[in-house]
Amino acid sequence: MSRIVMKFGGTSMAGIERIRSVALRVKREVDAGNQVAVVVSAMAGETDRLVNFCREASSLYDPKEYDVVVSAGEQITSGLLAIALQAVGVPARSWMGWQLPIRTSDGHASARIGEIDTTALNESLARGEVAVIPGFQGVATGERVTTLGRGGSDTSAVAIAAAMQADRCDIYTDVDGVYTTDPRIVPRARKLKRVTYEEMLELASVGAKVLQTRSVGLAMKEKVRVQVLSSFTDADAPMADTLPGTMIVGEDELGQEDIDVERQLITGIAHDKNEAKITLTSVPDKPGSVGAIFTPLAQANINVDMIVQNVAHSTGSTDVTFTVPGADLARSLEVLGNAQGEIGYAELVHDTRVAKISVVGVGMRSHAGVAATMFETLGARSINIQAITTSEIKVSVLIEEDYTELAVRVLHTAYGLDSEDAA
Ligand code: ADP
Ligand code: ASP
Ligand code: MG
Repeated sequence: MSRIVMKFGGTSMAGIERIRSVALRVKREVDAGNQVAVVVSAMAGETDRLVNFCREASSLYDPKEYDVVVSAGEQITSGLLAIALQAVGVPARSWMGWQLPIRTSDGHASARIGEIDTTALNESLARGEVAVIPGFQGVATGERVTTLGRGGSDTSAVAIAAAMQADRCDIYTDVDGVYTTDPRIVPRARKLKRVTYEEMLELASVGAKVLQTRSVGLAMKEKVRVQVLSSFTDADAPMADTLPGTMIVGEDELGQEDIDVERQLITGIAHDKNEAKITLTSVPDKPGSVGAIFTPLAQANINVDMIVQNVAHSTGSTDVTFTVPGADLARSLEVLGNAQGEIGYAELVHDTRVAKISVVGVGMRSHAGVAATMFETLGARSINIQAITTSEIKVSVLIEEDYTELAVRVLHTAYGLDSEDAA
């Protein structure tokens, strides 16, 4: 007998027919003798709908009440799945975040999971029930409901798997694993059998939304075995314990097979259209100038990503360019506008039509030339690079948004990632 967590995302839970199919998939695991906790997302599109209601109600909505509203989608799907399981003869009980409880920080709309009380969960499993738990939600001090940030059900699933010491956390979604890039953009993308935690963390943080970044960090810290696989396969598809999807593994678990056959220098390519570029022109080229720009942004809790400072003009001033999350652009412009006197720039220019393209791979550590290949490949297609950042296992460039798909495709080919058998 194994203990497993099965997590089903929005498209897997979109409507009663899909929920019935999820119930049958859970039943297969129960019939195989496993103890199962299921974590569910709201139906696809539902959370967006609820977010929009909050915005319509007031542009200055209270985050505590936002969490009450947007957590509701998962309450519905967890009850419905428990009903669907009971209807196929599987004893099941739903457990809201506050009922277990799943304790979180007070950071409404992006709370962090603290402790999970597994008493009720373990008792339910011991009674032979499937425990159905809404993802994305928890409870903070004062018993207020919290949510974990968009895509947060992945993190709920990993946290529950860690708390109940599950043998595996299976993340069921609408693709059958992690690919070398988003398979909806590049049909020639190749499915990876194994990805390291570190690579997945980088890929998720630069835009591969197949797993929420926090869920990967948590899995790495708690050593949770995570598999990404499809809920859209036939009823007689191979069981999850044959590992048909992609396993997220430690670097030490990469076998010779991965190194010889499957793995290239680059493991994956991701894109992110949600960043905005800001340029301050004619900033005085003197000590303290850069601090005067980034300190007020940090104080406003705005994360700056890529930064370029040009060489000084003969006038003793320089242009400074950087990116911020698109959602924080308006606030960033306000903060920088207020600080104009202190910073001493001439003009504040912004551009939202940019995309960040990133190549990721642990192989980069021991090989030179990865960045050069990227720059040459984009240059050959006349795609201009506006900013660059690197880490030990990642190179990112900022380009014009219109070239996103083209850039991802040509880089995929340039790094030898194209599948031979795909269209
Ligand atoms: P869920 O609703 O199940 O949580 P998401 O929409 O959050 O699903 O994530 C799945 C999607 O992630 C896929 O449909 C795919 O388009 C996208 N995706 C982006 N990058 C990748 C990648 N490298 N491998 C697989 N899927 C990816
Ligand atoms: N329903 C939430 C969202 O759409 C959480 C999730 O699906 O992971 O962001
Ligand atoms: Mg998701």
